[in-house]
Amino acid sequence: MRRGRHDRPAGRSDRGGLRRPVGVGRRPDGVPRHAGRGPGCVAGRGGWRFHRLGQPVKPAPFHYCRPATVAEAVEALESAESGRVLAGGQSLIPAMNFRLTDVSLLVDIGRVAGLDGVDTGEDGVTVGASATQSRVLNDDAAARAVPGLRAALRHVGHLQIRNRGTVCGSIAHADPAAELPALAVATGAVIGVAGPDGHRTMTAPDFFLGPFWTALEDAEIVTEVRFPAAPAGSVTVVDEISRRAGDFAVAGLVSVIHVDGGAVRSARLVGFGVGGVPARLESAEAAISGWASDHPDRELIEAAAHDTADAFDDIHATAWYRREAVAALLVRAARRALASPEAP
Ligand SMILES: Cc1cc2nc3c(=O)[nH]c(=O)nc-3n(C[C@H](O)[C@H](O)[C@H](O)COP(=O)(O)OP(=O)(O)OC[C@H]3O[C@@H](n4cnc5c(N)ncnc54)[C@H](O)[C@@H]3O)c2cc1C
Repeated sequence: MRRGRHDRPAGRSDRGGLRRPVGVGRRPDGVPRHAGRGPGCVAGRGGWRFHRLGQPVKPAPFHYCRPATVAEAVEALESAESGRVLAGGQSLIPAMNFRLTDVSLLVDIGRVAGLDGVDTGEDGVTVGASATQSRVLNDDAAARAVPGLRAALRHVGHLQIRNRGTVCGSIAHADPAAELPALAVATGAVIGVAGPDGHRTMTAPDFFLGPFWTALEDAEIVTEVRFPAAPAGSVTVVDEISRRAGDFAVAGLVSVIHVDGGAVRSARLVGFGVGGVPARLESAEAAISGWASDHPDRELIEAAAHDTADAFDDIHATAWYRREAVAALLVRAARRALASPEAP
C-alpha cells in the first residue's frame, strides 16, 4: 500500500484533470497564496488565522499555515488537533490524497528562517529541514565529507521528487525502505529537534522506532540532521535491489567499510527494506572483519542471512528473496570497497 500511494502524481484527479488541493493554490480572493507577506498563516492577537476554500478535492479538508520561524511552527502544531509538518510534500501529499493520513493543519516549513542550510565542516555535514535532496546531492563539499549522502540520494526517486523532497523529511517520514534513514544509522547521524520544551538531539537508532514511526513527540519538528564525516580509510557503498530505477528498494544495504592492507578491517552495515527500521547487521559486521577478496563469500552470506532472519514478506518480494538480496549486496559491497581507489 505504501508504494501504491506513489503510483499516481499528487493533485491529478481520477478523470485525468488537475485539481488544486485546498490551501496550496489561490486565496478566495484569487490572489496566489505565495503572494504577500505570510499568506495563509498570520500570527495575530487572536492567534492564527487560516484560509480554507472548502471546495471538493482529493484530500480531506485541512487548514494550511506558513510560519516564518521555528517557534511559530511549533506553536501552530501545538494549536492543531492533528497538525503535520509539510516539507517537500512528496510523501505527505500523496498520503493525504489517498486519505491514508488524517491532517487538520499543514504547517509548511518551506519559508521558516534558518532551516535551508547545508553546512559542511571537518566534522561532517549538517542539513537543515528545508534543504532539498537535490541541493544536498549536488553539493560537492558535502559529498567529499560524507560520500554516503550522494551515494544514497542517487537512489531516491527521480529528479522531480528530489527537487522538492527534503533530506530531513525523509528522516522524519521513517519509511523502512528509504535510503536516508539507513545512512543516518550507518554514519551515526544526530537528529536535531525543536518542540514545545525547547531543543533536543537524538541519535539515529533512538529516533527510528518502527515503520513510519519515530521518537518525535507532539508538535516537535526535525530542524536538522548532522551526518558525521566519513572516517579516513573508509569506503561508503549504498546499494539496493529495486524493480525500476527510482522505485523504493525491495532490499538495500548501506556499508561504511574500513579497508586496510587489502582486507576489511571493520564495517558498519545497515540493511533497509528488510525490517521495520533500518538495522545494523551485527553478525555480518563481525564476519566481514578481516575478510579479503580471496575469502569465501559463504562467510558473509551466512552471517547476513542470520541478521535478516526476521525479514518480511509483502507483494513486492518474499522474506527469502530479501534475505538473499541483502547477502548478495553485502558481497558486492565488500568487493567494491576492496577494489575502490579510495581504499588505502
Ligand atoms: C514516486 C516517488 C518515488 C519515491 N522514491 C523514493 C525512494 O526511492 N527513496 C526514498 O527514500 N524516498 C522516495 N520517495 C519519497 C521522497 O524521498 C520524499 O521526499 C521523502 O520521503 C519525504 O520528504 P518530504 O520533504 O517530501 O516530506 P513530506 O512529504 O513533506 O513529509 C513526510 C512526512 O514527514 C513529516 N515531516 C517532514 N519534514 C519534517 C520535519 N522537518 N519535522 C517533522 N516532521 C517532518 C511530515 O509531517 C510527513 O508526515 C519517493 C516519492 C515519490 C512520490
